[in-house]
Amino acid sequence: MAEVLVLAEHTADGEVKKVTLELLTAARRLGSPSVVWTGPGAAGAQARLAEYGAEKVYSAESDDFTSYVVAPTAELLAQLVADKAPSAVLTASTAEGREIAGRLGVKTGSGVLTDVIGITAGDDGAPVAEQANFGGAINVHSTVRAGTPIIAVRSNAIAAEPATGEPATGAGAVETVSFAASDAAKGARISERAAAEKTGRPDLTEAQIVVSGGRGTGSAEGFKIIEDLADSLGAAVGASRAVVDADWYPHQFQVGQTGKTVSPQLYVAVGISGAIQHRAGMQTSKTIVAINKDQEAPIFEIADYGVVGDLFAVVPQLIDEIGKAKG
Ligand SMILES: Cc1cc2nc3c(=O)[nH]c(=O)nc-3n(C[C@H](O)[C@H](O)[C@H](O)COP(=O)(O)OP(=O)(O)OC[C@H]3O[C@@H](n4cnc5c(N)ncnc54)[C@H](O)[C@@H]3O)c2cc1C
Repeated sequence: MAEVLVLAEHTADGEVKKVTLELLTAARRLGSPSVVWTGPGAAGAQARLAEYGAEKVYSAESDDFTSYVVAPTAELLAQLVADKAPSAVLTASTAEGREIAGRLGVKTGSGVLTDVIGITAGDDGAPVAEQANFGGAINVHSTVRAGTPIIAVRSNAIAAEPATGEPATGAGAVETVSFAASDAAKGARISERAAAEKTGRPDLTEAQIVVSGGRGTGSAEGFKIIEDLADSLGAAVGASRAVVDADWYPHQFQVGQTGKTVSPQLYVAVGISGAIQHRAGMQTSKTIVAINKDQEAPIFEIADYGVVGDLFAVVPQLIDEIGKAKG
C-alpha cells in the first residue's frame, strides 16, 4: 500500500495532540500511514501512534526544530518526500501546519489543499479533499494534479478512530532520520518562549465544545459569563474580534478570519452577530447554538438551535440547567 506521511503535532513534552490521531485516521483511508515526528519523544508516543494505525514513525531529533520556526520542518518533509515518494502528505490545518504545507508545496513543486474537512480515496486511489465555502453553503471536492498531494486538515473535522484488528508486527516502529537544517531554513530564530497562561480549559482549536462571546457581553466584566458557561460545559472559550479589539479578552482566543479556526462538535455563539469574518472561523462546527437578542442577527442563518433573548437572562438559566443535568 502507498505510504502516506503524517506530520505529528505534539506538545514540547511529547504528548500527541488529538489532531494527529485525526490525521492518522484520514491517512488510513489512503494507504499506510507513517508519522513524521520532530524533536524528542517519538519512542514514548509510539504505542499511541500505532494504535491509530501508524506503521512507521520517522523520528528526527535535531535541535533545529526548537531553535527555528517552521522552515526546518518543511525541509525535513521535503527530504522524506524525496526519499520515500509517499502518495500524500497530511498536516494539521493550524497556522503552523498550513505554513509548513505551503513551504513544502514550493520545495516539491506540489499542489496544496488547506482547511480540508474530509478526505476519501478517489477511483485512482489519489486523495479527494473536501473544503467548505461560503458559510458551509457549498462544499468543494478537489484533487491535486501536480507533485505529491499536500493536504492540511482542520482539527475536529475527522473523528479520530483507533485502527481495528491486531497491529502488524513492527507497527509504529521508530526509524531515526538524520537531519540538519540548511542555512536558508535558519532565517528566523526563536529568541524566547513564554509559557501560555494555564486556564485549565481545553485548547481552543482542539476542543469538542467552544463557547464564544461577542460585543453583546458589553464589557470585560460582562464577558466573564462566557467563561462561566464554558466551565459548566467543560468547553474552551472563544471571542469575536469586537471583544478582542475592545481589550475584553486576549487575541489568542479570537475566532474568525484573522483569528483561530475551530470545528468543534458544539459551538455556542453568545452575543455575536455572525459577521462573515467570524463565520469563516467556525462555520464547520458540527452543531451551532446562537444566543442573541436580535432575531434578525445573521448568526441565526447558520445556527442549528437559536435562543432569542438577553444573554444575561438566558445564560444563567442555561448554566443552572446544565448543573441540574449533571446531577
Ligand atoms: C479584514 C477583517 C477581518 C476580520 N476578522 C474577524 C475575525 O477573525 N473574527 C471576528 O469575530 N470578526 C472579525 N472581523 C470583524 C467582523 O466584521 C465583525 O465586526 C465582528 O465579528 C463583530 O463582532 P460581534 O459579533 O461580537 O459584534 P457585533 O457585530 O456588534 O454584534 C453584537 C451582537 O450582540 C447582540 N447583543 C447585544 N446585546 C445583547 C444581549 N444583552 N444579549 C444577547 N445579544 C446581545 C447584538 O444583537 C449583536 O448581534 C473582521 C473584519 C475585517 C474587516
